[in-house]
Amino acid sequence: MTRFFNTFTRRKEEFVPLQKGFVRLYSCGPTTYFYAHIGNYRAYCFADLLRRYLEWKGFKTLHVMNITDVDDKTIRESSKAGKSLKDYTEVYNQAFFADLHTLNIVPAHYYPKATEHVDDMLTIIQELIAHNKAYKSEDGSVYFKIDSFKDYGKLSGLKMADLQAGASGRVKKDEYSKESASDFVLWKAYSPEDGDVFWETRVGKGRPGWHIECSAMSTRYLGYSFDIHTGGVDLIFPHHENEIAQSEGASKKKFVNYWLHNEHLLVDGKKMSKSLGNFYTLRDLLSKGFDPLAVRYALIATHYRSQLNFTFDVVHAAEKTLSGLQDFLSHLKDDAVVAGKEKDGQIAAALARQLEKTKADFTAALDDDLDVANALASVFELQHAVNKALDEKAVSRVLATKIAAFFWNDFNSIFGVLKKQAAEKVPVEVQKLVEEREAARKSKDFKKSDALREQIKALGYAVDDTEKGARVKKA
Ligand code: AMP
Ligand code: ZN
Repeated sequence: MTRFFNTFTRRKEEFVPLQKGFVRLYSCGPTTYFYAHIGNYRAYCFADLLRRYLEWKGFKTLHVMNITDVDDKTIRESSKAGKSLKDYTEVYNQAFFADLHTLNIVPAHYYPKATEHVDDMLTIIQELIAHNKAYKSEDGSVYFKIDSFKDYGKLSGLKMADLQAGASGRVKKDEYSKESASDFVLWKAYSPEDGDVFWETRVGKGRPGWHIECSAMSTRYLGYSFDIHTGGVDLIFPHHENEIAQSEGASKKKFVNYWLHNEHLLVDGKKMSKSLGNFYTLRDLLSKGFDPLAVRYALIATHYRSQLNFTFDVVHAAEKTLSGLQDFLSHLKDDAVVAGKEKDGQIAAALARQLEKTKADFTAALDDDLDVANALASVFELQHAVNKALDEKAVSRVLATKIAAFFWNDFNSIFGVLKKQAAEKVPVEVQKLVEEREAARKSKDFKKSDALREQIKALGYAVDDTEKGARVKKA
């Protein structure tokens, strides 16, 4: 049974999708006014882990991640750079897709852009006006009337009574704090700072507010009601609170059943963020020589609801863990034996039992709100036991295949951190020398066999003599 912690109810709940076997999932995506930083990628790697887990459990998924390519920040930065909004954001849109690929993130099915869904936003805005949940202000902007929506504040735990006392009228900015919660903007009437960023529409000349973008794009691709919505905890208020008010205010249907929020990536105890300037982009880390899969591992190996303090040491440790796993899988492929000896039969039987237990523990941990720490602990325990048994030549090929299948098909389907191990292609000339050397060894001509080893080495290959014969690999 799958259980997720639902921010809306503040408890772990059994996960039951609206449609059996099919999960509709929406993740708030990047605002493309700069390269996403690795704090942002913690949010996207979390959504990826969730998606991979659901598919591994046998659910079909429909995953949508929006691209915010118009808002206060994109307009401000493109105008500073003297570029059109489209030209400016396109650079970062493309960089984002490249980074997703580098981080081995399974692509969402749709990446809608806000600028291409203004009409969908207007439809919701007009519905809200018709339902008396939104109004036009003097300057032509349209605001959501929060006291018209009785559930306003439920996701973030705001109390409407406190709110009304402190309400400060209206906010036109996209971002604001709980303290200034009040009627928020759906449509911003044109102002000169917007330059050439405006739409002439049925509600007037202007541009959308940020919050309405996600309501419109999620509804367009997933319908009025869907299963899971993800994002970082900073989005709970006001962004997700406002999404609920807009969507439910317009459709009169429950918007989202499960709200899953990831905690922040921190630097020295503070949220990694563009505004604090304490951030690293993925590019920054790659230029320092870090392996992108280790960055991915570092971001997902801590439970998504725990804060994670970022240091280079965390990524170094991840690199070590992953190279240990890769070596282990090579060892497993190369050093399994045809059949174990009599006493080793017992080791093999114990190992077969441990494999079954690992599978059960791994599944139970992930089913429990993606408890990666316990899932990984069971994986490493198995790795340790198998390594020991391999050294004792007690792992049969049949068992090795089953163990490898667990690592590739179960562990890696979800974690996505292993590199495929292509069978190494040894050049024909090297292979010939290896065979000559084998023959020399058989006839005990060690002088010749040593000379041949040197020749092989000169071609960049090393040869190991094992019980099963010579093994060649890149030096
Ligand atoms: P933004 O582009 O600022 O809207 O952020 C995109 C996503 O990254 C959102 O889901 C944010 O909640 C998330 N996010 C931003 N900063 C961090 C951080 N330091 N750690 C984890 N997630 C973050
Ligand atoms: Zn959003």
